[in-house]
Amino acid sequence: MSVFRKIKEQGLSLKITSRILLIASIIITGVLVFASARAFMNFHELERSTDNYIELEEQALSLMDASDYLTEEVQCYTVIGERVYLENYFHEALSVQRREKAIESIEAVMPNSLAYYELKDSLRHSQELMKREYYAMRLVLEAKGDKNIPEQIKDVVLRAEDAALSPDEKIELAMKMVHNTDYYFQKNEIRRNLNDCLKALKSSTFTSQQGMESVAKRALISVMILIMVQTLLIIVNIWVHMHLGIDPVIKAVDHIKKDENIPIIGASEFRYLAGAYNVMYNAYRNSISNLNYKASHDALTGVYNRAGYEIIKNSVDLTTTAMMIIDADKFKQVNDTYGHKVGDMVLKRVANTLKRSFRSDDYICRIGGDEFLVLMVHIVGDPSVLIENKMKRINEDLSGTVDNCPPVTLSVGVAFCDKQLDPDVLFHRADTALYYVKENGRNGCRFYSDDLDGLAALKLTAISEKDEDKNQESENG
Ligand code: GH3
Ligand code: MG
Repeated sequence: MSVFRKIKEQGLSLKITSRILLIASIIITGVLVFASARAFMNFHELERSTDNYIELEEQALSLMDASDYLTEEVQCYTVIGERVYLENYFHEALSVQRREKAIESIEAVMPNSLAYYELKDSLRHSQELMKREYYAMRLVLEAKGDKNIPEQIKDVVLRAEDAALSPDEKIELAMKMVHNTDYYFQKNEIRRNLNDCLKALKSSTFTSQQGMESVAKRALISVMILIMVQTLLIIVNIWVHMHLGIDPVIKAVDHIKKDENIPIIGASEFRYLAGAYNVMYNAYRNSISNLNYKASHDALTGVYNRAGYEIIKNSVDLTTTAMMIIDADKFKQVNDTYGHKVGDMVLKRVANTLKRSFRSDDYICRIGGDEFLVLMVHIVGDPSVLIENKMKRINEDLSGTVDNCPPVTLSVGVAFCDKQLDPDVLFHRADTALYYVKENGRNGCRFYSDDLDGLAALKLTAISEKDEDKNQESENG
């Protein structure tokens, strides 16, 4: 059987569905955490890259500042001649070393990059320029006759024609060397390299930031999609539980309240439970209706018994019902002559004849030993002729011996009223009419009329006399 057919027939399992949804939810949550972390890391990288750019830009600019500072100090030294400028120069070049530090920091972050090589070039130009500056400073030291020559320029040897110059000429030459076009050309080379470095820095930062940005964007889109999928999963989860679990339970409760079978719907687990409940419920219903049937029906003849009649009498509309009390004539003799078993056969025959003779809507009851009661319902107009004809035919049917079942005749008392009467009053009237028939030759049918009322008292007296006779007999016996 294919899975889909199996699901269609047995329903989805709530347990399996819940597990699948839970696993899917856990996986999506995991991916969501991963994608969020990726997006976060990319943004962090982006932030770091921006900070780096600012830092490296500052470092690169500080190289230019340092170079300008050296220029300023050497120029001041050649013009003013005070030694403090010389000291400042070497302090920057040897101790502060802003230019070298700038190179180091760029190398640490972006080794082998264009920005790094441009900055290195700019340092190279700056160092080239220093040779010229050292020479100019040496000239000034020589011109001033200052013997305290810094270590770095001790090795600088003046050309012979420069050494032969007077002190003023030496100072003038020194000033020229750090102010002329050649000097500024070199300075411009430094500046150009620096600008190229900044451009390269900007472009490489921009490119890497663009890459990071697109990764971060993709990660963010993934996060959004995953959140939507997760939300969808939650909705599916709620729908599944509503559809497979809660709805069937609510419907089941409705059906249980209405005393009906539970519909087989929803999850396979619930269908299994509903199926088991329905089997139990139907067995219970059958046993109840069996019990009800047994309690309201006569075991011998299959028609309603006295208890059945007691229930029916209150449910029929007596204004359109004729009540007939039918008693077998001289039935004791049947028993005495043929035996009790044959008597039972006669009773069954009477019941079957009555069932055959009346409509299926009518109620046939055995309310005593050989006493039957028929409720003819939904009668329209006066049913006297109909009833008389029916009873005549019934007595004719029972008048012959059939299958060793001896004949029997019936006496019938009938009462009906188009006003709402107490069923017991109607019963009493039919019984009075029956008494009349019994007292007037039996094997007949009599309808109750008011003039029979006096018979009721006679009937009571007769019954009590009968009882007394019975008592006497039993005392003598
Ligand atoms: P009447 O014409 O006046 O009715 O005379 P009767 O002999 O029929 O008298 P009655 O109706 O009082 O007697 C009914 C008899 O039915 C009494 C009892 O022995 C007999 N009987 C009651 N229940 C059963 C039963 O289940 N089977 C049989 N075979 N006889 C029964
Ligand atoms: Mg009888």
